[in-house]
Amino acid sequence: MYPDTQLYIDGAWCASVAGRKHPVVNPATGAVIGHFAWADRPDLDRALAAAEKGFATWRKVSAYERSKIMRKAANLMRERIDTIATYMTMEQGKTLAEAKAEIMNGADTIDWFAEEGRRTYGRVIPARAEGVYQLVVKEPVGPVAAFTPWNFPINQIVRKLSAALAAGCSIIVKAPEETPASPAELIRVFADAGVPPGAVNLVYGDPAAISSYLIPHPVIRKISFTGSTVVGKQLAALAGQHMKRVTMELGGHAPVIVFDDADVAIAAKVMAASKFRNAGQVCISPTRFLVQEGIYDSFVEQFVANTKRLKVGDGLESGVNMGALANPRRSKAMEANLEDAGKHGARLRTGGHAIGEKGNFWEPTVVTELPNDAKAMNEEPFGPLAIINPFRTFDDAVKEANRLPFGLAAYAWTKSAKTANAIAASVETGMISINHMGLGIPETPFGGVKDSGYGSEGGSEAIESYMNPKFVSQAGL
Ligand code: NAD
Repeated sequence: MYPDTQLYIDGAWCASVAGRKHPVVNPATGAVIGHFAWADRPDLDRALAAAEKGFATWRKVSAYERSKIMRKAANLMRERIDTIATYMTMEQGKTLAEAKAEIMNGADTIDWFAEEGRRTYGRVIPARAEGVYQLVVKEPVGPVAAFTPWNFPINQIVRKLSAALAAGCSIIVKAPEETPASPAELIRVFADAGVPPGAVNLVYGDPAAISSYLIPHPVIRKISFTGSTVVGKQLAALAGQHMKRVTMELGGHAPVIVFDDADVAIAAKVMAASKFRNAGQVCISPTRFLVQEGIYDSFVEQFVANTKRLKVGDGLESGVNMGALANPRRSKAMEANLEDAGKHGARLRTGGHAIGEKGNFWEPTVVTELPNDAKAMNEEPFGPLAIINPFRTFDDAVKEANRLPFGLAAYAWTKSAKTANAIAASVETGMISINHMGLGIPETPFGGVKDSGYGSEGGSEAIESYMNPKFVSQAGL
């Protein structure tokens, strides 16, 4: 049922030159379910040569033709959804419904960038002298190196891949080693749709060894990374030394500000569903719930009730709302956070424990009254942990929301347009969603500020970072 995964280099699926392989573990069972090929330096050299050649070919394919190939790839993804979703659940742990939603959203992303690539207009600037044309043309930056994590095996790649291809760039994707098969299926739909050899390449291996080789390499012109802030800073520094363009989508610690005038029932329902999606292993996961004193008790009660309704289990089983954590590191992080929260006198309202002996299952957990010096109030929990604390005034909530160095996503709930405007203007964040969960669609910007990174992975902003503006000043002689 679960395949072995190969590298994809220069239009061919292949083993690594040294024949190295690594196992893939199902986080719901702990069983080894397959293997993937592990790239070493000779494989990377082949991928770099292919990306250089692929760029020369792909940039000459018209935006119109590129768009047609990409749309074909999107349709192939939709046709293959059942198989790809099963692989994703087996390797990542999320529920089948979430895996399918990710794949459908991925197909939408390909479609959207396919169209956006046809609209990468330049402009004509009025000249100072008669007979002069001042043109701005957009050119693809060149071969891209993309590094993506395991929490959304397809969606973390598809945004980078689609924007790069739509702009006319080639790409080497270093996909997540823990979840290799579903990303390979994403690459396969592009291969099957007719992307020329070398335009798309896929490798797995030692992340640090690969990034430290690819980023400085002269063939690579742009880096895109999704992952933790610590690693992002290292890669951005390396890219800076080599003057490479960078997009960084890093960690978050999203505040959720619920004002006294909010619809408490809807806020508690929507935010509980968002919190425990993908077992909280989401960079925009709502994490620090700041709830105004007047509705605090009611919100906590309703949020906890919604949390208790969630059924945890193997993502392949029907009726399961939350699957296993993707790897044992996340279980350990949950343990450490809960132990630390206990020491800080927090109230455990529900959950708080690992489930069973097999797989990385954790109870959806809610703690309240956790002080600011606790670990989970400062580090991204990246697991099924909601923290709820009360606040008194608007300014108190803003101060707490902006306390951390992160600034990726934020949420607010209020029936007052005045408060909604004021909170949107006051929170230091790349994205804020008010009175609903509205983040993460292809046509809107996706990215952070402060330690959460820079650049956008969605909307028309995203494609710009894969293009260089070239100024052409031309006099007709
Ligand atoms: P990690 O920081 O070791 O790895 C995160 C991702 O970065 C992985 O995909 C890994 O392969 C990659 N990576 C690590 N070092 C790299 C390097 N030198 N070069 C290139 N890629 C590298 O940690 P982890 O245990 O996998 O996750 C821990 C934390 O990372 C989480 O708590 C969360 O804060 C963050 N994270 C964020 C996202 C996101 O969507 N922004 C996704 C996954 C993890």
